[in-house]
Order: sequence, then C-alpha cells, then structure tokens
Amino acid sequence: MCGSEQKYIAQAFDNNWIAPVGNNIDVFEHLLSNYINEKVHVTALNSGTAAIHLALIILGVKKYDEVICQSLTFAASANPIIYLGAKPIFVESERDTWNLSPLYLEKAIKERIALGKKPKAIIAVHLYGMPYKVNEINNIADKYKIPVIEDSAEALGSMYNGVQCSSFGELGIISFNGNKIITTSAGGALVTKNLELKKKSIFLSTQARDEFPYYQHSEIGYNYRISNILAGIGRGQMEVLEERIKTKRNIYEYYKSRLEGIPQIEFLDEPNGHYSNRWLTCILTSSYKLREDIRIALESENIESRPLWKPLHLQPVFHNYPCYVDGSAENIYERGLCLPSGTNLQESDLERIISIILAKTEKVLKFA
Ligand SMILES: *Cc1c(COP(=O)(O)O)cnc(C)c1O
Repeated sequence: MCGSEQKYIAQAFDNNWIAPVGNNIDVFEHLLSNYINEKVHVTALNSGTAAIHLALIILGVKKYDEVICQSLTFAASANPIIYLGAKPIFVESERDTWNLSPLYLEKAIKERIALGKKPKAIIAVHLYGMPYKVNEINNIADKYKIPVIEDSAEALGSMYNGVQCSSFGELGIISFNGNKIITTSAGGALVTKNLELKKKSIFLSTQARDEFPYYQHSEIGYNYRISNILAGIGRGQMEVLEERIKTKRNIYEYYKSRLEGIPQIEFLDEPNGHYSNRWLTCILTSSYKLREDIRIALESENIESRPLWKPLHLQPVFHNYPCYVDGSAENIYERGLCLPSGTNLQESDLERIISIILAKTEKVLKFA
C-alpha cells in the first residue's frame, strides 16, 4: 500500500457509502479510463474473473458455444467459459511473447468452422505483462469476425505501439487481485470503447434490475460490482501505479544485466512495439531439471520462486477439450521460472537470489 488508501476508505466511512455504490467507485473508474485511454469506459467489478464472465455474457456466449482461449495462462482465463456451459478450445503460444500464436489461432478457427461451429469469442492474454501480437491477432479476429476478449489481468500499464493494453479488444479485463501490479485485495474491471456495453455490464453486475419502482427482473443478474471501500484502495493504488511499473521494469533489468551471459538462461525481450509492465520477471532455463534445481535451491534459502502457469490443455480439469498445440507452451512451462519480483526487493535481496542461480549454472566465458 502507498499510504493514501486509508484516506479514501475513511471518506467512504464518513459519508456512509459502505456499499457497491459511491464516490470512490466513480473516481476509481474515472482514474482508470483516464490512465488507459480517453476513449474507453471502465466498469469496476469485484474480480477479474467476474469481468471475463460478464464479457462472455455480453458477447452472447451460451451453452454449447465454443470459445477460443490461450492455453498458457491462469485457469481464471478459461473458467468462466465453463460457468456458461460453453466449450473452451485451447490454442498454442508463440515464442516471441509466450502468448496466442497467430498461426495456431487461424488454424483453430478454420478447423472449428469446418466442423460446423464458428467460435463465439477469442480470449487472448498479455501474460506476465507482455503484450501479445495485437495487430496479428486482431487481423485474424477481424477476418473471421470473432470478437476478442483481452485478458489484461496481469498487464495494467503495458503498451503495444504506445497504446495501453485492455483497449484493443471488443472488451478488455483487468484484475486487482492481491498478487497483481496494483491491488484492491480483490477486484477487477471491464474495459470497453462502447458506452452501451459499459451500461450493460453495470446492469448485469448489479443483479439486472429493470427500471421500475418495484423489483422487476427480465434477465438473470450477478452480484459482481466492486465495493466502495475497495474502490477507495484502488484510488490510492492509482497514485503509485507508474512508480510500480518503473520498479518492476528495473527489477527485470537488474536480473537480466547480472544473468545475461549465462548460456542456460534466457530472458523474454520486448519485441518491437511491445512494452511490458514486467509484472513478474520470468526466465527460461535450458532444461526442466535446471529449473527445478534453481527453484529448490532458492526454496532451501527460504526464497519463493514459481513455475510458470501450467498450460490449460494439460490440466486434469480441461484435458478433454480440443486443443491446437505443437508443444511450445508445454516447453515454455517446463523450463520457465518466475523469479521474486516484489517492488520492495532491495539490491541485496536481488544479489542473494542471483548468487544462488549462478551457483546452479555453470559459467561459460563468452567470446566476442
Ligand atoms: C489474476 C488473473 C485473472 C483473474 O483475476 P481475479 O481478479 O483474480 O479474478 C484472470 N486472468 C489472468 C491471466 C490472471 O492472472
């Protein structure tokens, strides 16, 4: 926390708006849309997962529909597809960004259409803050007229060609869960350029109450709005977002500058036009064994590191659904490790981590 969160929470107490309505929500949404892009409208919700669920509903996804989803991501990207009784179709990642492969995306779309079912939506993810190949993905989506849900849960502040992520899809989603770059403890947002869609998302997230003096409902609603208390935390967090991104990017650069000469370790550089918030610094090791050696060596020093998200097509709960893969995401998963990336890390902490990694990799002199 930055310190001013409590001031905004106190304001909510003072004016007694302890509810999913109130000034903190209005201001938080305003700050977010100002930050992302003046053309977008933002609806603050109680989680990123709720935002994906509403995005699918707004796009008309129903039982038995098919929805394409990047496989290399957190389960929350795909779970709402199942809530709706729809069917996830998992698609491979490419090596430049670890995100949705344009090649496999088009292959999947063509094959699903040939099988008689055109996918209703595409869920593309900016994993660990690295933007996916927005132009390529949007070109394919436009060609087949399939809307994109832009999972920017991990990518607040990331940019593609100078434009903030979450504004490229038909609908974008952000998460303010405790682990994300800024947090409201739990929270999320839906982002759209279409004001009608914002109105629809507020309607659905507040129990779909029709405009009558009495309680009348002609649609099923959800209790997905953010609380005015948590939006107060969000207001405070917006004050430190830029600083957080700067620190995260410095942490990545620090690791990279110290480990770059090691042949068994690779970093994910930003392709041209891609700007990552570097939510987590992730490395690719040369083998599954080395990844585990490093992870366990860190753990024995009481330092937590984590394997990357396990691809969803390999998850027991999803393994029966169709997937379009060639092993790339699985390979990235097996060799990838998320390093400690908290913004409170000191240089001495980073040096401790780096020395443990160095001890596990053999140094090879690089000849120019
Ligand atoms: C965190 C996360 C979500 C879900 O957000 P919550 O706010 O935790 O519900 C969705 N997708 C990705 C990629 C995430 O990392």
